[in-house]
Amino acid sequence: MECRRNLLTREWVVYGPEIIDPETFLTLAKQYDSVSDLFEENIDECPYCPQNLPDTHVDIFSAKATDIPCAGFSVEHVFQTENWDIKVIPSPRPIFQVETQLNRYPKRLHDVMIAPGAHEKFLLTPNHGEPVWDFSSQRIELMLQTLRHRMMNLYRDARLGHQHPYMVYGKEFGSLYNHSVLNLTAAPFVPLKIQRELDGAFQWYQMKERCLFNDIREEELYKRETGKEHGIICESSNFLALTPYFSGRPFAIWIMPMDHYSDYTEAPVQILPELADMIKRILKTFRNALGPYPFQMSFMTRPNENWGRERGYWKTVQQDWLWRLRIVPGIEIKNSPLKAFHSGTGVRLNPVLPEKAANFLRSHL
Ligand SMILES: [Zn+2]
Repeated sequence: MECRRNLLTREWVVYGPEIIDPETFLTLAKQYDSVSDLFEENIDECPYCPQNLPDTHVDIFSAKATDIPCAGFSVEHVFQTENWDIKVIPSPRPIFQVETQLNRYPKRLHDVMIAPGAHEKFLLTPNHGEPVWDFSSQRIELMLQTLRHRMMNLYRDARLGHQHPYMVYGKEFGSLYNHSVLNLTAAPFVPLKIQRELDGAFQWYQMKERCLFNDIREEELYKRETGKEHGIICESSNFLALTPYFSGRPFAIWIMPMDHYSDYTEAPVQILPELADMIKRILKTFRNALGPYPFQMSFMTRPNENWGRERGYWKTVQQDWLWRLRIVPGIEIKNSPLKAFHSGTGVRLNPVLPEKAANFLRSHL
């Protein structure tokens, strides 16, 4: 049985119980005939359609695609527009709320915190039922620009430790409505899963005096140059898309910048159109190869430096961490009994080797 260690978390990933080729895996995986199969919903109730937004809703930000200036939105600039292409509102069911005052205290044995945070919903299109893979690159760029703008704004609040922008699509990932929405959460702490990755990257940097993500990228480029099996799917001047060698999920993808930026907001706006094109290309490739599918897309970025500075953290985070985009399609073999092993141990079982998945995706680009 082949096991590979995740260099970030040091977890073992098991490739098995038997390794199967991507084509066989996809025929065994759950199929969807249409986008509407991905959801169980009543369209009249979608809270993100323009006609269903309450008159009293708070508009944090809204913009038209034509508002994209090549220099990016300035943090101070708030667009408000009736006919929007993107709109940011506070989440109707927020995980965290900004208005809360921070209060930490012990309760005998336990640590308790009444904590502020933020949870914003980016309505990426006014059109119900429009998947991101059908978006124009310009609409995806508008999402990227707006995200950069909102994250920079939230970074000013030193009470907020870590921002997690993510999108879930399809009921497999808990998305109720067929409306493309990006979430931006800011937590008053660094989630443990993120902390483990930060620790792994920090330890690598301590040991090697090099960025782990840079080493992973160079390794894949080296394998390709020397004719070995590799995980690279596609690349542009500023970004590389690959399947990580130790991926725990079939067809999981990282999109990494070629230059070193520890935080998403540090990437210059001039390279965002390239990123938009690559996101569209990857999501569309999956769509063409698999039909409609659920997916999860997360921006893996570093914690708030203002928050960490107060605690004496993140001395080398600028050097040891690289932000990346992670895309995980929700493709699983139906009724797999192996789910119980994962839920009991946390160990992932992946029947598709990442380099084979990359080869498959390359052939469908
Ligand atoms: Zn809708």
